[in-house]
This record gives sequence, structure tokens and C-alpha cells, in this order.
Amino acid sequence: MDFLRKLGIEGTNSGTSTGQEFLGSGAKEKIASYTPIDNTQIADVTVTTREEYEQVIGTAQEAFKEWRMIPAPKRGDIVRQIGDKLREHKEYLGRLVTYEMGKIYQEGLGEVQEMIDICDFAVGQSRMLYGKTMPSERPRHRMYEQWHPLGLTGIISAFNFPVAVYSWNAMIAAVAGNVMIWKGSEKTPLCGIAVQNIIAKVLKQNNLPEGIFNLVTGGREVGEWMSSDERIPLISATGSIRMGREVARTVAGRLGKTILELGGNNAIIVSRDTDLEMAARAIAFGAVGTCGQRCTSTRRLIIHEEIFDTLKERLVEIYRDIPIGNPLDNDTLVGPMIDQQAVDNMQQALDEVQKEGGELVYGGQVLDKNQLAEGHYVRPAIVTAQNDWDIVQEETFAPILYLIQYTDLDEAITLHNDVRQGLSSSMFTLNLREAETFLSARGSDCGIANINVGTSGAEIGGAFGGEKETGGGRESGSDAWKAYMRRQTNTINWSDELPLAQGIEFNV
Ligand code: NAD
Repeated sequence: MDFLRKLGIEGTNSGTSTGQEFLGSGAKEKIASYTPIDNTQIADVTVTTREEYEQVIGTAQEAFKEWRMIPAPKRGDIVRQIGDKLREHKEYLGRLVTYEMGKIYQEGLGEVQEMIDICDFAVGQSRMLYGKTMPSERPRHRMYEQWHPLGLTGIISAFNFPVAVYSWNAMIAAVAGNVMIWKGSEKTPLCGIAVQNIIAKVLKQNNLPEGIFNLVTGGREVGEWMSSDERIPLISATGSIRMGREVARTVAGRLGKTILELGGNNAIIVSRDTDLEMAARAIAFGAVGTCGQRCTSTRRLIIHEEIFDTLKERLVEIYRDIPIGNPLDNDTLVGPMIDQQAVDNMQQALDEVQKEGGELVYGGQVLDKNQLAEGHYVRPAIVTAQNDWDIVQEETFAPILYLIQYTDLDEAITLHNDVRQGLSSSMFTLNLREAETFLSARGSDCGIANINVGTSGAEIGGAFGGEKETGGGRESGSDAWKAYMRRQTNTINWSDELPLAQGIEFNV
């Protein structure tokens, strides 16, 4: 495999790095990386030991002292170079994302493009870490605010976006002056090492110290070291709601900061007044793209009763034609699920929804014939359901689309919001009043709300994240950078008197 060699990840890899240097000689435990395409082992990666973890943290603390004093636009220039290196490696890295995670190659490339886009965004941001100036109530006083870096930024990421989520955090945090400790998913450890190898080239070219971009590898235990570590003031964690609850509890216990990007239960409302063909295509991409394993995947479809049957039939037609198979093949639109556990979870959810009374309209089968037999392939499923069934209330990380009927808009919005998660949402309508109602304060309660655009596939320019059990964090564009910095309010007295605020007299 040429791309494995080009990315420097053949054989046994160290999963611990402080930049250019890879530690890991002491590690006995290894994680084997398998491709979900045919379940063969790609390579393996050493798990970070406690001693190596301590070394990484110590090195990061030292690097922070230097990195925070480099002017932000100069830090931006390092991120610009990382973006350029990613451009050079886009095809190899995109291929690896597909090989290790299972999303189709177009989506693998898209993920790397997202990294490049956020680098570009961060370069601009490095000149725009704006603080406000405010008039002081005291004569010859000046008040303003500045934004300073926090220090060590812990980034814990999930398997389904094995490289992009890291860069949303790391590139913004880096221009803000922080140093990064990244723990990717134990299901996609090679992606982390490949990204680290790419960044290391830029660190080397610029003679930067060890400790700015750090990588650790392991499962929950290594994540717990990070969330309980007082030396890491901010933990940005992406993953399941279960994980988010645990991280939130631990970090709050030490009064640290968190950015939580957790599960979604995203819905599209389809009005009777809609471009049905456009809606159907957007629904298909949202529901089956990445084999239903995006945090923003479309899981619930809330359809006006008058078009329910027509849309259902059209979706079945589309689903019938979707090529499922090796995600590296150009024609494939749906690749495998990440592992057997994910397949089992899907089957269990389908059993449950049918026990509740749902009708399996299409799909749901495990594909185990011919070349698909070795991988984790399923046929995406369409099921009729009621919104309040327990299984519909949960995020099943699989390509299951629940069809739910509504009669009027108020009912649709109530159904839409009546789940515990609040990540992405959408309405397909050509009716201005409906569209604006959906986007208004009495409309969608999600962090992302779209009109005539599906729930998945966000651009990096907006702040990304969700409400309720999705965790409330925001990453990527807009002013998400503020979460990686501490605000300091400064008052300067350039008079020869000492007036107190609020006119208080204190004559000593
Ligand atoms: P997961 O929760 O199993 O694991 C995510 C990461 O957390 C991994 O790196 C894991 O090792 C680590 N982890 C697990 N338990 C931990 C603990 N107690 N303390 C510290 N770290 C811990 O999630 P997954 O299966 O990899 O990913 C799928 C989930 O991620 C879905 O729920 C999906 O919606 C969510 N997700 C959310 C977003 C978002 O932006 N909102 C983006 C991608 C994925």
C-alpha cells in the first residue's frame, strides 16, 4: 500500500509524540488497526504509558512558555504551512481515512479538505483575536480587554471524523497560543500518527521546539488521565453522550473548562410545500452518507401527511440504487460500518423499533455475500416510527432513517424538538412563513438549523455544535476561538490621582 508508506505508518508505530519525536519504546500494549473494508490488519500502534504521558505533559508545559510569546500572526504562519503540507498529502491522507474508518474516498478527501479549510481560516483568525476597548468612568483611565491563551488544550476525538475534528480544535487553539495534547479514537489510531507525521515536517522546517503538537494514544483510560489532569485547563471532547457526561463530571470537579461535541438525533421536517426531489436527495445523503455514522446524520424524517407515501416511495427507489461496497471504489456511495459492534447495535435497534410497531420499509440487512463477507457492510434501513418510542429517542450510530408523520407545523416542531439531543436540524419548504418559523425562537432548538440544506455536511466558517445533551460546545468558525482563550480586562490609570470606581471615597 503506497499511501501507508508515503504517510510513514507501515508496521508498528509509536502512538506517543511530542512533535517530531516519537516516544514509545517502553510501551508493551499495542492497538491493532483493522480496515473495516475487509477486516484485515493494517498496522499497529503502541499505547501511551503513564510515564510517557508525564513526559508529554512536561514537554508541552515547557513549549507553552515559548509558543505563547510568538506573535499570533507568526503562529498563524506555522498553521498556514501545515495547511500547505496537508494539501500535498491530501490524497494519501484521504485514502487512509477511507481505509481505516470506512467512509467513501470522496468523503475521505472532503475530511482532509476540511482540515485545509480550517487552517486557512485560522491563519486569518490569527490577526483577529480582537478584544474590545471600553470607556472608563474615571478620568484619564483606559479600559480594554485582551485574550490570552489558556495553556495545554486536551483534544479527545471520535472515530468517525478521525482527522478533521482534531484540526477544528488544534488549528484555532494553536493560533490562540495554546499547545495541544491529542488523543484520537482507539478505532482509528493510524490517522493520528499520519497527521502527526505531516505536522512534524513543518515543525522541523521551522526549528520549533518539541511539545507544541502532541499525540497520545489509547482508550478510555488515557482520556481519563487527560480529563482529570489539572495541568490541562481545557478539554475539548467529541464522542458519545456517555463519554461527554463522564468527561464533564471529571473536568467540572476540578473547575476546568470543556468544549463538548456529543451525539445528535437530527431531523428534517419535510413540508408539503417543497421541492420533493431536492429534499429526497438531501435526505439520502444525510441518512446514508458515512454509512449513518456522522454526528449530523439524518435520523428522523418528519413528513407532512399529504406527501408521506410519495416521499417514502421515492426514498425506497433511491435507496435501491445506492451502490454499497468497497469505499475506495469510485462508484461506491456507502461503505462499511466501523466494526461488528456497530453492526450489532444497528440490528438491535431494528429489532426494537419493529417490536414497538414500526414497519421496516426497506433495507437493514447485513451484507455477507461475496467480497462483502469479510467487512462490516449493511443495507441502510428505512422504518416507520413514532417519535416518542425509546429507540427513536436514542442516537443509534447507524444508517437507520425513522419516518414520522405530521399534520401541522406546530406539531412538526414539537416532534422535532422532543428529543434530548440538539445538534443539527433542517426543514425543506418553499414557504417563507414556515421557514422563518422553523428558524425563529419557537422553531428548532438545535445548534444548527438549515432550510433546504440537509442536516450533515457543515461548512467550517460557522460555529459548529449543539444544545441539550449534545453538550453545548462550539468549534470551528465564527467566534468559536474564544473558547480556547482566557479574557483579561485591563484598566490603566494614566492620571496622577486615584479615583475609585462608583465614586467611592476611601481616604487613607
Ligand atoms: P466514544 O464516546 O466511544 O469515544 C470518543 C472518544 O472518547 C474516544 O477517543 C474514546 O477513547 C474517548 N473516551 C471514551 N470514554 C472516555 C472517558 N470516560 N474519558 C475520556 N475519554 C473517553 O465515541 P465514538 O464511538 O468514537 O464516536 C461516535 C460518537 O461521537 C457519536 O455519538 C457521535 O454523534 C459523536 N460525535 C459527535 C460529534 C459532534 O461534533 N457533536 C462529532 C463526531 C462524533
